[in-house]
Amino acid sequence: MMLILLGAPGAGKGTQAELICQRLHIPAISTGNILREALKSGTELGQKAKTFMDAGNLVPDDVVIDMLKERIAQPDCKDGFILDGFPRTIPQAEALDAMGVVIDRVIDIEVPDEKIVTRMSGRRVCEKCGASYHLVYNPPKVEGVCDKCAGALVQRKDDNAETVRDRLTVYHNQTEPLKSYYAAQGKLFEVNGDRDVEVISADILKELEG
Ligand SMILES: [Zn+2]
Repeated sequence: MMLILLGAPGAGKGTQAELICQRLHIPAISTGNILREALKSGTELGQKAKTFMDAGNLVPDDVVIDMLKERIAQPDCKDGFILDGFPRTIPQAEALDAMGVVIDRVIDIEVPDEKIVTRMSGRRVCEKCGASYHLVYNPPKVEGVCDKCAGALVQRKDDNAETVRDRLTVYHNQTEPLKSYYAAQGKLFEVNGDRDVEVISADILKELEG
């Protein structure tokens, strides 16, 4: 089964991707991990991508799409895969269609913006051991101090409320139009992502497994 996971940054795509993988035994593919693998193995495409990243630029669509092509041609994708974070724009979705990749279902995880801001801006990580906390959902025993190693808890730059709002705006402008793109193909399944992880996952699997 070839699947796409859609949803705003912080909507919980990664977690759901993992759960679907375990159940359906297909790999989750994100452009992030394709990039990391290509950089590590030093493939021609990896080197090409690196020149853009070193210059502080985004890797262009055609390079990402070529990397994706290589990735989904690998044997572990023969029964399908889940794309997490790709496509991100209508041109990328069109390129995927043009590649002849026939997507079966597109799962859209919906979470209100303000919930996402609360989720993400409340995250704290330990500087020393990397343990993660949340001011609302998983607070440390002592404010600002790691339970495990007494290291200082800090907020990642990406989790800053303003950065999160900026990323949500980009999502609404560039990625959200994919909902109507795939709805027109009869492939969109919207799920309410403002609930417990297990409840969301049960809904998705019910939809996929019929
Ligand atoms: Zn720690």
